[in-house]
Amino acid sequence: MTNSNLLAIASKYGNPLYVYDSEKIASQYQRLTSAFSSIENIRINYAAKALSNISILKLMRQLGSGLDTVSIQEVKLGLAAGFDPQAIIYTPNGVSLKEIETVAKMGVQINIDNLSLLEQFGTRNPKIPVCIRINPHVMAGGNSNISVGHIDSKFGVSIHQIPHLLRIVENTAMNINGIHMHTGSDILDIDVFLNGAEILFDAAKHFKMLEFLDFGSGFKVPYHVNDIETNIEELGVKLSKRFISFCKENGSDLQLIFEPGKFLVSQAGHFLTQVNVVKQTTSTVFAQVDSGFNHLIRPMLYGSHHHIENISNPKGKKRFYSVVGYICETDTFGSNRKIAEISEGDILVFRNCGAYCFSMASNYNSRYRPAEVLWHEGKSYLIRKRETFDDILNNQVEIDFTEVFNN
Ligand SMILES: *Cc1c(COP(=O)(O)O)cnc(C)c1O
Repeated sequence: MTNSNLLAIASKYGNPLYVYDSEKIASQYQRLTSAFSSIENIRINYAAKALSNISILKLMRQLGSGLDTVSIQEVKLGLAAGFDPQAIIYTPNGVSLKEIETVAKMGVQINIDNLSLLEQFGTRNPKIPVCIRINPHVMAGGNSNISVGHIDSKFGVSIHQIPHLLRIVENTAMNINGIHMHTGSDILDIDVFLNGAEILFDAAKHFKMLEFLDFGSGFKVPYHVNDIETNIEELGVKLSKRFISFCKENGSDLQLIFEPGKFLVSQAGHFLTQVNVVKQTTSTVFAQVDSGFNHLIRPMLYGSHHHIENISNPKGKKRFYSVVGYICETDTFGSNRKIAEISEGDILVFRNCGAYCFSMASNYNSRYRPAEVLWHEGKSYLIRKRETFDDILNNQVEIDFTEVFNN
């Protein structure tokens, strides 16, 4: 989709606004499946938390994807989007036994990541097959907030606890049908990923009833212009070869699963904001947009870089701006960015805003969360209405103090 498409969409739906390009999502999906085309039984389970709009989930289902979920609410969204329970895997962390059992009753594949709940679940439901999330302790990515494989991470059953794990499985006679790992976002080094895979293969040898191996995700996408990304094609060649040989050695026909979020939706997303104020101080020129970390928190939470362009004046002379928001908190989207000259009223687009952007939005400062639009085959579709004041008050309960005082 082009910048003039985006401008037309902004004037139709207003801003701030998230716009997603279905063609980009589809092409990323195809890129991943073709990188692993030598494997017969491969499955992509889209990680719903990256972008959980029901229309996006339906698009994923159209593409042939399954769903990776982390809460019972995401499971319900998936079912509402028409996914078969069997096409959904539930990979929670730190949730109650009650929630896991409720999801299991829905027919969804359960993935357990701690020994305490594994033992309790297995004792009470020995017939329900369970996948186990292993922590291989490989370090992926440079940001400890999004690395979930290190030794003191709260995610997964440590590879060093396999003997204990095996004792639980034996004592409960439960059926382990899958082994899973998800080592975090931003994998750049294919060898790190392959090392993790070897650890998973080793763990898998202990289980006779396995149906699948789930390698999670963590594929890095380019955020900066000319940024590097995970080389999916190289990973496809190397991991496929190893996976096929493992299945042969082990005499088992396993399914290979990936559960990408960011890889599928990040680059498809464009966040449109309007400049309210251009504020010149003694040292800096600020462009203040009608948004803040209430709508896009990744730059402040993770230090993430989102490329920013002025699509109202694309040919303008480049100048340096700090792009900031309008909420009462430091909410810097980008410092000293070279952007085509900005005037008040211009539309700025933030790139790579498909993943973990809307899904992390809040009502801080009692602002409305943005609307969402899907761009599909040359047409725009509103897939989430902008909030209204009623949404802000919706669950609030007013106390009538005059009555309290009078009693
Ligand atoms: C978040 C998450 C993913 C998706 O990670 P991305 O970096 O967005 O690809 C996959 N699996 C699990 C278990 C997750 O929690």
